[in-house]
Amino acid sequence: METDIESLAVLGAGSMGHGITEVAAIAGYDVVMRDIEEDLVEDGYERIEWSLGKLAEKGRIEEDPDDVLDRIDTAVDLAAAVADADLVIEAAPEILELKREIFADVDDATADGTIIATNTSSLRVGDIATATERPEDCCGLHFFNPPVKMDLVEVVSGEGTAESTIDAATEFVESIDKTPVLVRKDVPQFIVNNVLTPYMGEAAWMLDEGDVNVPAVDAAMVFRRGYPMGPFELNDFGGIDVFAHTRDQWDDPVPESIRSRVDAEDLGRKTGAGFYEYDGGDGVEYEPTQGGGVDTLRIEARMINEAARLVGEDVAEPADIDLAMRLGGGLPEGTCRTGDKLGLDAVAAKLRELHAETGAERYEPADYLVELVEAGHTGEDAGRGFYDYRDGGPYHYVSHDLTDDGVLEVTFDREERLNAFSTDMFAEVQRLLETVDDEAVSCVVFEGAGDRAFSAGADITGFTTADPTDLMDVDESIQAIAEFPRPTVAKIDGFCLGAGLEIALACDLRYATEGSTLGSPEIELGLIPGGGGTQRLVRLIGEPRTKELVYRGLHVSAERAAEWGILNRAVPEAEFADAVDDAIGDLADGPQTALKVAKRVISDGRDASLDTGLALESQGFGLLTTTDDMLEGVAAFNADREPEFGDD
Ligand code: NAD
Repeated sequence: METDIESLAVLGAGSMGHGITEVAAIAGYDVVMRDIEEDLVEDGYERIEWSLGKLAEKGRIEEDPDDVLDRIDTAVDLAAAVADADLVIEAAPEILELKREIFADVDDATADGTIIATNTSSLRVGDIATATERPEDCCGLHFFNPPVKMDLVEVVSGEGTAESTIDAATEFVESIDKTPVLVRKDVPQFIVNNVLTPYMGEAAWMLDEGDVNVPAVDAAMVFRRGYPMGPFELNDFGGIDVFAHTRDQWDDPVPESIRSRVDAEDLGRKTGAGFYEYDGGDGVEYEPTQGGGVDTLRIEARMINEAARLVGEDVAEPADIDLAMRLGGGLPEGTCRTGDKLGLDAVAAKLRELHAETGAERYEPADYLVELVEAGHTGEDAGRGFYDYRDGGPYHYVSHDLTDDGVLEVTFDREERLNAFSTDMFAEVQRLLETVDDEAVSCVVFEGAGDRAFSAGADITGFTTADPTDLMDVDESIQAIAEFPRPTVAKIDGFCLGAGLEIALACDLRYATEGSTLGSPEIELGLIPGGGGTQRLVRLIGEPRTKELVYRGLHVSAERAAEWGILNRAVPEAEFADAVDDAIGDLADGPQTALKVAKRVISDGRDASLDTGLALESQGFGLLTTTDDMLEGVAAFNADREPEFGDD
C-alpha cells in the first residue's frame, strides 16, 4: 500500500459499513468497525465472516479468511474506535443531523489530519463537514452496494475539502483495488445516483399518466435498450422508500405511483411487494415481446440531460460520468456516449416537447445540452457531442501503450463485464490497429483487464439492440487483428469464451494460465461462433474437435486446449508473466522484416495451394537475403555472439 493511511475506523456495521470494513481488511488495512450497540457490531462481524468464507470458496481472496478477520476489531465506544485511525469512514443512516453529530464527535476525538469521510448517498458533504472545525479534512467516499463486488467509489470534494485530502482519499481507494471517480463539486447524489434518479423517476411519471404498464417499461429498457435491470425492477431492488426519501429531502416532486406504494408500505423486495409482488406473487416478470411501443427516449433523454447538467456545472467530465455509470450503475455504456449515439438534438427536442406539454421543471433542457446543440455538436454523426469524434473519438473500452521496444500492449478494459465485447469495443480495437503506425510496432499483445477474463464473449445485451450491420462490423474488427502485419499475441488469464476465443484465434500466438477456460458457447444462445470462430478453429484443430466444441458449446481447460493445439502453451500462474515476456522479447528484439515476412508467408500460404505457398515462401526468402538484418545475423553467427538487429 502506497498511502499514508494505515488504519481505518468505519462507523456503522450495517449493509455498507460491514462491506467497507471487509474490503479494507482484505486489502491489508487494520480496521475498527463501530456501531451503537454490541449486537449490531456482532451482526456486522458475522456478515463479514460469512462473506469472506464465500470469497475464499470461490478463490477470490488469496489469504485465509481468519488472517483477514485478525485485522478487524469491533467497538461500541466512538473515541476508542477512532483513536488510532488515519481515515474514518462514516456509514450511519442517511440523516443529516445524525451525520453532523458523528462528524463533530470524530473531530473532537481525532487529531488534525485524520481524514473524516462520509458514505452518504444523497446529502451534501459540505453540509455534514461544517459540523467540524476542519472541513479541509472532510470528504465523501461513496461506495456502492455491495462494496465487496462493486468496483466504483465516488470521491467527493466538499466545499472546504483540501486538495491533499482528495489526493489521499483517492490513493486509498486505489490501494483497496477500487476505481475512484472524482466528483469535483459538492452536488447532492453525486454522479451515479443523479443520473439513475430519472431512470426510475421518469418511468414512474409515465406509469402515473396511464399509457404504460410496469413490465412493458422494464422489458423495453432491458431488451430494447440493453439496461441490466428495468427501472421498476431497480426501484424495487433499492427500496422505493429510499427513492422517495431522497426526493423529499430536496423537495422534489414524487410520482403518485411511488408515493402511494410508500404510504401502503409496499417498498419493494424487502417488504414482499412493490411494483412487483414477491411474497405470494411471481416477482419480477417481463418478456422481450412486452416492450414494444414504450417511449424509451423519454427516459434516456432525462438521464442524458442530467449528465449534461453535471458536465455544465463542472462536477465531472463526460469520460468520468461514463465510467461511473458503467461501474456504479452497471450500464453497458456510459450515458454521455449513449447521448452522442442517439443524437443530442433528438434528446433536446424530446425534453422540449415534454416541457411544453407539462410545464414541469424536470424537462427543462440543461444549459450545457442547449449549448452543445446550438453549436451543432449533436453527437457522433456530427463529429462532436459530449465527445470529440473528429479523430475517431476517445477509447472507452480499450487501453493501450506502446513500449520503447515497440510492443503495443492492448488491454480489453471492461472488467465490470468480464471484458465482454460490445460493438463499440470491437470498433475501438479495429480503429487502434488501423491508426497505429505499424512501422513503430514490433508486436501486439492483447490481454483482458483484471484477473478473471481475457474476454468472456460478446456482450449479450448488445445482441438484442444491435443492427445486423453492426454485427458484420465485428468480423471486420477480428479480421483487422488477423491481418495486422506484425506478430500478435493473446495473453489469456481466465475466461476466453465466444468472441474472446475468436479474437485469440485471430492472433498468431496464444498463451494461457493453466486455470484459464476456453470455449465457444454460442450454440447455447441458438447461435454459431462468428468472427471466424468456426473457420479458424477447424483449420487449427481439425473437424472432429471443432465440431465437438461448437456443437456441444464445450468449455475446455487451458491444458486441454494446449493439447488440442488451440494454445501454444498453458503455463502455471506463477510462471505466466515471465513465459509471455520471453516470447514477446523474442518478437521485439528479432529481425523485424523477417518476422513480418514470416507472418505473411505462413498466414497467406496456409489457405493457398502448396505450390502457391511455396512460391510465396521463396519470394519472401529472396527478399530477406538483401536485408541488413540478414548480414548482421550471419556476422553474429560467425562471431558466436547475439545478433543486434535494426528496427527494420
Ligand atoms: P444500514 O441501516 O444498513 O446501517 C447503518 C448502521 O449505522 C446501523 O447498523 C446503525 O445501527 C448504525 N448507526 C447508527 N448510528 C450510528 C452511530 N452514531 N455510529 C455508528 N453507527 C451508527 O444503512 P446502510 O445501507 O449501510 O447505509 C449507510 C450509509 O451508506 C447511508 O448514508 C446510506 O445513504 C449510504 N449508502 C447506502 C447504500 C446502500 O445501497 N445501502 C449505498 C451507498 C451508500
